[in-house]
Amino acid sequence: MSPCVFCDIVEGKIPAKIAHEDHLAVAFHDVSPKAPVHVLVIPREHVADLDAATPSQELLLGHLLLLAREVADREGLGNGYRVVINRGADGGQTVDHLHLHVLGGRPLSWPPG
Ligand code: AMP
Ligand code: ZN
Repeated sequence: MSPCVFCDIVEGKIPAKIAHEDHLAVAFHDVSPKAPVHVLVIPREHVADLDAATPSQELLLGHLLLLAREVADREGLGNGYRVVINRGADGGQTVDHLHLHVLGGRPLSWPPG
């Protein structure tokens, strides 16, 4: 059994509300949304966190960012949105598979807690 819940989602072993899939990435709705729209964008391949990404994954990282923008557009977030990567304990990372949060649908306060 895979130890990674997001790898399990990529492999279809556990259900998720998929927003988009392509050859490099999967986007799905967060199971515990922090805003009216809360979608996670992840690479298909297991990358533990932003620090684990290598220069050879530069195109993959760009792909994830452009996909986050596309998800925001498709979800109707023309009034604004936020893309967040939490990294490590102080960053609030709880799942060790790189993911971009796309949050929107309400005004988001700044700075974050
Ligand atoms: P982070 O705290 O930045 O690591 O974000 C992890 C996010 O994954 C949280 O917002 C969780 O609600 C979300 N999450 C955890 N398990 C699942 C799941 N099975 N399906 C969808 N979202 C999940
Ligand atoms: Zn994984």
